[in-house]
Amino acid sequence: MVHYKSKAEIELMRESSLLVSKTLAEVAKIIRPGISTFELDQFADTFIKDNGAVPSFKGYQDFPYACCMSVNDAVVHGFPTKDALKEGDIVSVDVGVFKNGFHGDSAYTFAVGEVSAEVKQLLRVTKESLYKGIEKAVHGNRVGDIAYAIQHYTQKEHGYGVVRELVGHGLGRKLHEEPQVPNYGKRGTGEKLKEGMVIAIEPMINMGTKNIYHDKDGWTIRTEDGKPAAHYEHNVAIQRGKADILSSFAEIEAAERANANLSSDY
Ligand code: MG
Ligand code: MG
Repeated sequence: MVHYKSKAEIELMRESSLLVSKTLAEVAKIIRPGISTFELDQFADTFIKDNGAVPSFKGYQDFPYACCMSVNDAVVHGFPTKDALKEGDIVSVDVGVFKNGFHGDSAYTFAVGEVSAEVKQLLRVTKESLYKGIEKAVHGNRVGDIAYAIQHYTQKEHGYGVVRELVGHGLGRKLHEEPQVPNYGKRGTGEKLKEGMVIAIEPMINMGTKNIYHDKDGWTIRTEDGKPAAHYEHNVAIQRGKADILSSFAEIEAAERANANLSSDY
């Protein structure tokens, strides 16, 4: 069953979501060739605790870290490692926090240094698809309207693979609540969206095939063809007229611009 949230509960959730955004922005400030995803995870873990919250993922079904760190062909659920990130890599950082009884859960794919034009396009289109999904996340629509918008834009217009096995979800006192929010589907189908629902919308988009496999570490999901994948996630409260986005990429994008300016100075 779907757990509907009061206005006051949505404000608490906004606090959790914005702390995730802030954590991702702090990661954005230090991500560069040479740093490891293990270091980024330790940094995020400490930042979350220093802000009076608990990392949601740590211990969730025995996941051992605060962040999922998925590099290049890893789609989601990657383990942080001590390998140094290299110029041209991409890394999807997925983080959750639990604060005041509610979870926030957001993800962002970062470019490490300068990446190829085709990778840049994958990142741009995947992020845009998230906002196209969010446009449909309003009272009276259905989950399938969000799903269709994301799939149409990424698959039909750009020829990318839309991961089928993993989906967005309701969010609240639990990290994963109903309904499921797939990134593929038909308009006018699925659960009806109603005021008070809070959902995580999270397109996972592959440059090549939609097919994935489980790495032998038991967690990491990788693309079957080894091509890169991107992942962006926002938390959204359903209301009338226009979705209320509880998380924010503003500070992350400002940090990315600052990094780009810094590297062009040399
Ligand atoms: Mg997430
Ligand atoms: Mg999620």
